Amino acid sequence: MTFDYHEPRTLAEALALLDRYGEDAHLMAGGTATVLLMRQGLLRPGHVIALRAIDELGGIAHTPDGGLRIGAMATHRAVERSADAFAYSPALTDAFGSVATVRIRNQATVGGNLAHADPAQDPPPMLSALNATVSVRSSRGGRSLPIEELAVDHFTTSLAHGEIITEVILPPIEPGTRETYLKFLPRTADDYATVSVAATLRFAPGGTIAETRIVLGAVGPTPIRARRVEDALRGQPVSRARDAVDLVRDEIDPIDDLRGSAAYKREMARIWTGRALAQVTR
Ligand SMILES: Cc1cc2nc3c(=O)[nH]c(=O)nc-3n(C[C@H](O)[C@H](O)[C@H](O)COP(=O)(O)OP(=O)(O)OC[C@H]3O[C@@H](n4cnc5c(N)ncnc54)[C@H](O)[C@@H]3O)c2cc1C
Repeated sequence: MTFDYHEPRTLAEALALLDRYGEDAHLMAGGTATVLLMRQGLLRPGHVIALRAIDELGGIAHTPDGGLRIGAMATHRAVERSADAFAYSPALTDAFGSVATVRIRNQATVGGNLAHADPAQDPPPMLSALNATVSVRSSRGGRSLPIEELAVDHFTTSLAHGEIITEVILPPIEPGTRETYLKFLPRTADDYATVSVAATLRFAPGGTIAETRIVLGAVGPTPIRARRVEDALRGQPVSRARDAVDLVRDEIDPIDDLRGSAAYKREMARIWTGRALAQVTR
């Protein structure tokens, strides 16, 4: 495994290196996924561009409008322990705290997680339920996209070569909204999810459901938004939740693997979506 290692100190330098080495360059953030892929011979870059010395990619802080900014190089552990992130949404810190072990969380970063795009990862469904936007930069300029448009398939994103995720922006949460993140872990406490569910829900003054976002992990090639369940709940009293939850079975596309059969995961998705809704409607 031979490669040239670069550690730029600014985003501009990193972008210039990406342009210079083209497809032969690979970004590295915490390295938890990249190093494994390199060891397995699945990734053989001639140039590794480490992002860890770039201060402008760090930080977690409230935005002036009451939202939250998470820098791409913030580690999972930093988000889990951030007072600003907890004040924004305890479910967000729960989701980051659900990843693997402390050792992995100390190393793995938010940008690396999103770019890796494993559909069983914990943060993406929660960030999606919270309506996050991802900011991306390349030498040609910047753009931001809804997080739902980032992952397009298993381990595949809509990022072009030469683009770097710089931050995740979470909008202010409307008063009265409740959020939860549930991870079903039947095997070991540090495993990937068999099924995960992130949900946010806000009641209208009369007690009906005004708005809800429900996103499932590990049951499709990307995190899956349960739009039919959401549509069935909007404008309805909580008593409709049980019927609406059944719709989730037809929205997901799980596969048979070591964590269970597709049929089992479909049933678990129904049960855990029901549990998530029970939590946000209590
Ligand atoms: C043992 C183990 C257990 C795990 N368990 C879980 C779990 O339970 N839940 C869970 O959610 N995840 C789990 N993970 C996955 C882990 O969350 C990811 O490996 C991690 O988030 C990737 O982040 P990183 O900073 O280490 O990325 P890296 O490995 O450095 O990079 C990953 C990919 O992202 C690209 N990249 C990195 N940063 C950027 C950026 N800013 N812009 C564009 N591209 C970028 C890299 O080029 C690479 O392709 C586990 C991983 C391991 C090794």
